[in-house]
Amino acid sequence: MFLCTVYKGFPVYKMSPNMMKTPLPLLTEELVENVQVSKETKTVKKSWKNLWCYFGDEDLKWKNIMVLTSIHLFFLYSVYHILIVKKLYYMLFFFYIPYGYVGAFGVTAGAHRYYTHKCYKVKLPLKIFLVMAHASAGMNSMFHWVRDHRIHHKFTDTEADPHNASRGFFFSHVGWLMVKKNAAVIREGRKVDMRDVLEDPVVQFQEKHFGLLSLMLCHVIPILIPWYFWNYELWDCFCMNMIKWVYLINGVWAVNSAAHIWGTKPYDKNILPTENKWVSFIAIGEGWHNYHHTFPWDYKAAELSWWLNVTGVFLNIFAALGWVYDLKTPSQELIERVVKSRGDGSRLVWGKEVPETEEKQSID
Ligand SMILES: [Zn+2]
Ligand SMILES: [Zn+2]
Repeated sequence: MFLCTVYKGFPVYKMSPNMMKTPLPLLTEELVENVQVSKETKTVKKSWKNLWCYFGDEDLKWKNIMVLTSIHLFFLYSVYHILIVKKLYYMLFFFYIPYGYVGAFGVTAGAHRYYTHKCYKVKLPLKIFLVMAHASAGMNSMFHWVRDHRIHHKFTDTEADPHNASRGFFFSHVGWLMVKKNAAVIREGRKVDMRDVLEDPVVQFQEKHFGLLSLMLCHVIPILIPWYFWNYELWDCFCMNMIKWVYLINGVWAVNSAAHIWGTKPYDKNILPTENKWVSFIAIGEGWHNYHHTFPWDYKAAELSWWLNVTGVFLNIFAALGWVYDLKTPSQELIERVVKSRGDGSRLVWGKEVPETEEKQSID
């Protein structure tokens, strides 16, 4: 299911009977108010043992294990070859990194904030750009990405969560792609309402041609452009593209792993997701994850739209241009009530921690 797997037929999903039954569990402000904090969560102990993973008794996906291991070994070689031997900083930083950002926007603004959570509405040209950008990231197709992420939010860090962080860093980061999904994940995956995604013609196009699109946009085109136009060696382009790709996918995976283990919990201390500025830096604004799991419909995926939140800035710019509209965000009053009743007292405002007394004064 990972990488450039050739899609085996869009109608398969249309035939699946269970997907149409349960309405999408989109949280509203009222629902957040009423959420009981008694939800069972397992605490991840900060021990070295947790840096590995609990694989359970799921069957291993040997093809994925081999591909994932190979690309990471090749990434290490590529860093050495490009940065130390060839010193091709210019092309890496002025072509491949920006190209990687395009793919990242497809994941964060497109797959995550638009398709999974419906945080805003978008005009067709930008929607097409986001869906194609998502294909260029070299991850799962839009349909699989959104379905997995909706289950993740509904069953966060429990057995039915595809990348359950209760099973340790490695499992939630990449290990979950190395094993077959367990029965709970499959069962709940079939119940997720995906009608809005299935009916979207741009997603239908991506799904139908995903193997080819992903191969061309993630690998072939970015490798050939510097080779053809600027006479770089093909092998060097291949290595620089590998750095771009492996860095990008690890940045996104860090949201599922590091931002569920390390960091503060100013909005809900009873869940595993955390506020992690390093993940926000790497994953262009997706590391404010305690906030995001508390207010998943907020287009900012963070309290602040600009602080270590490149995707928030991206959406603000397109909102100013009128290409995105109807952006959802909770009221300041609701945020402050939730912080006060459920937070661990570590809220950040303007990038700095708010002392308890100062916060209380601002609420009163
Ligand atoms: Zn999460
Ligand atoms: Zn989310």
